[in-house]
Amino acid sequence: MNSKLLVYINGKWYPKAKATVSVYDHGFLYGDGVFEGIRAYDGVVFKLKEHIDRLYHSAHVIMLTISETKDELINAILETLRKNNLRNAYIRVVNTRGIGDLGIDPRKCQKSNSIIITDYLTMHSSQAKETGIRAIITWIRRNPVDSASHEIKSLNYLNSILGKIESNNAGVDEAICLNSQGYISEGIGENLFLIQKGIILTPPTSAGALRGITRGFVIQLAKELGYVVKEQNLTPTDLFTADEAFFTGTGVEIVPIVEINRRRIGNGKPSPITKTLMNEFSKRYRDPKEGILISEIAGS
Ligand code: PMP
Repeated sequence: MNSKLLVYINGKWYPKAKATVSVYDHGFLYGDGVFEGIRAYDGVVFKLKEHIDRLYHSAHVIMLTISETKDELINAILETLRKNNLRNAYIRVVNTRGIGDLGIDPRKCQKSNSIIITDYLTMHSSQAKETGIRAIITWIRRNPVDSASHEIKSLNYLNSILGKIESNNAGVDEAICLNSQGYISEGIGENLFLIQKGIILTPPTSAGALRGITRGFVIQLAKELGYVVKEQNLTPTDLFTADEAFFTGTGVEIVPIVEINRRRIGNGKPSPITKTLMNEFSKRYRDPKEGILISEIAGS
């Protein structure tokens, strides 16, 4: 961890140790806010516009007004990376409801807070991509779509944290959540794919999953490579009997899953289609066409 990193809060940059918000912020008191996790690779912020669009969509759903325009926020992200001299980074953008009183009513919060943290994030061991990871299907159901659904990236991640506690307790790497109908929704912070007889399958976002940006890119890459990709409801049995399975997400990128609830997936090793997609993904995410250059000024 680099203690010299600067953090953006509402138009100003503060050293990490002094980058604080009020204990009366409803983001802290109630998880009232939205966020994005973004990665930069070799000076390219991967799919930055798409992440910013999703942030504003999440904010729109919870009726939170972000003070910056999209271009201002993009510039603030790029400027934070430049100030911290980062070309490879994990970026966290957080917009909280702001300071209110101790009641829930968001109308008490006058102005939202915008925070940009640029740092590093490693999700699994360094061998995870070569050996694959182990997961459980947890008893924690994904929030229904008519609740604090993970279709939006809100600050309410207790549902995911409970799933993570269960996977920790089971001694495995990740948890997979079902929705209230028993269909597969997603991981705790990742989308899920499986492969059956050469066909790539993933749950629809109506199963309560986030419309992941990595998910979208992987679907695009897979189609470009000539694979058939289908979005459909999937059951635990579909998953246990899959030839291959993998997670996608900004944090994990693409990571193969080789065991679920102690059932071996396929041959128990990262398999050909997953490896092909991982390979293609790692070639493409540095491409300036897939993002915004850190040296760029948005809107120009
Ligand atoms: N689902 C959830 C619940 C997430 O929080 C995330 C992001 N961490 C994802 C899926 C993956 O989305 P993305 O590829 O856009 O990072």
